[in-house]
Amino acid sequence: MEKKELLYEGKAKKVYTTDDPSLLIVAYKDDATAFNGLKKGTIVGKGVINNQMSNRLMARLAAAGIPNHFVEELSERETLVKKVTIVPLEVIVRNISAGSFSKRYGVDEGIPFEAPVVEFSYKNDALGDPLLNTSHALALKLATREEIDRIRELALAVDRYLQDFWAQCGVTLVDFKLEFGRLPDGTIILADEISPDTCRLWDSATGEKLDKDRFRRDLGGVEDAYAEVMRRLMEHE
Ligand code: ADP
Ligand code: UDP
Repeated sequence: MEKKELLYEGKAKKVYTTDDPSLLIVAYKDDATAFNGLKKGTIVGKGVINNQMSNRLMARLAAAGIPNHFVEELSERETLVKKVTIVPLEVIVRNISAGSFSKRYGVDEGIPFEAPVVEFSYKNDALGDPLLNTSHALALKLATREEIDRIRELALAVDRYLQDFWAQCGVTLVDFKLEFGRLPDGTIILADEISPDTCRLWDSATGEKLDKDRFRRDLGGVEDAYAEVMRRLMEHE
């Protein structure tokens, strides 16, 4: 399958049409942004790692019964995916307090929750991806109640699967962001990516951060951290 025309260039990926209207090619870049685009940089090799990691996790999730857009890895940085209409919600699942949760509610990072926290943001860069609840999402007609229920169910299933998988790799899954989309027949599937850009991953033994927080917080060792989580994942292939 060949790239036809550039449909969209985002902060981390480019999206191309193909000869098949139901399929897209995503190409992962090394560009990194944080704080709604205010901080910009490059993480050398990130595109390759995020592409390969996301594909491996999506393949595992599909085998575990969680439908998603992954079709075929075409090259180090490029993947064929099912085209969906993205539901404009950033679906965040949290197992341990961190990031904006800690900031917003004034709690330390690193406090485990008794049950996962699911939250939604309106995927809208101009508004800074504001937090919203189900009734906001319904009022804004971002999705139907049935779709939101299904998205929540799938997000929690992803959490259960990935927490267990990462634990086997000696990695603690703190929180992550998912995006879902609709196929032409209305079926909701998981889309976008699952990578150290979109997850908080802490070394289970040392607590060391192995994700994009190293870039956001200028902790150094960004490339090494991405390579380390990829190595851990590959050991469990
Ligand atoms: P952003 O738009 O946040 O800058 P990216 O650089 O990752 O993000 O761009 C990828 C874009 O492709 C995102 O807008 C994402 O919602 C969209 N996308 C991801 N998977 C699919 C898919 N299967 N079909 C259609 N669009 C997708
Ligand atoms: N996240 C993401 N994209 C976003 C916002 C958040 O991938 O636009 C991920 C982030 O990497 C983390 C989780 O979602 O794993 C929760 O992020 P949080 O709300 O704490 O936001 P942040 O600390 O990035 O402001």
